Amino acid sequence: METLPQPLEQRMARFRDCCLSHGLAVTHQRAVIYQELAGSMEHPSPEMIYERVRARIPDISLATVYKSIKTFADLGLLREVNPFTESQRWDANLDPHHHLICTRCKSVTDLPEATVAPIEFRTPLPEPFQVQRLSVEVLGLCVACAALKK
Ligand SMILES: [Zn+2]
Ligand SMILES: [Zn+2]
Repeated sequence: METLPQPLEQRMARFRDCCLSHGLAVTHQRAVIYQELAGSMEHPSPEMIYERVRARIPDISLATVYKSIKTFADLGLLREVNPFTESQRWDANLDPHHHLICTRCKSVTDLPEATVAPIEFRTPLPEPFQVQRLSVEVLGLCVACAALKK
């Protein structure tokens, strides 16, 4: 089993603090949705989260899950990952890190920041741009996909 880079309790505490400081009620529904996001290493899509939340809150709608995810992202509690699929994928790991992305099954795996040498620009950027962070996407095949015969 992979271990979470940050304990789930810590992520949930940050979630509650952030909601409170933004005047957003920590409803049972929101807490369950964020818990499923924060406890996942898979960079899940809203549909994946919906399936998991539905097991705990049967009458929840996909629209509610989408809306909550947008709210969490606006508060900076989630980051969007670009896994080259049509579906959104979300990351509750807010520590600096990179990603291994499988081009076949679209799995997204965290790569610790220290794995990659610090990125530097060789020349000034072509136009003024406020850099917020640099992240590397390593594209390739995961173990399972590489093992598949064509
Ligand atoms: Zn794969
Ligand atoms: Zn990640």
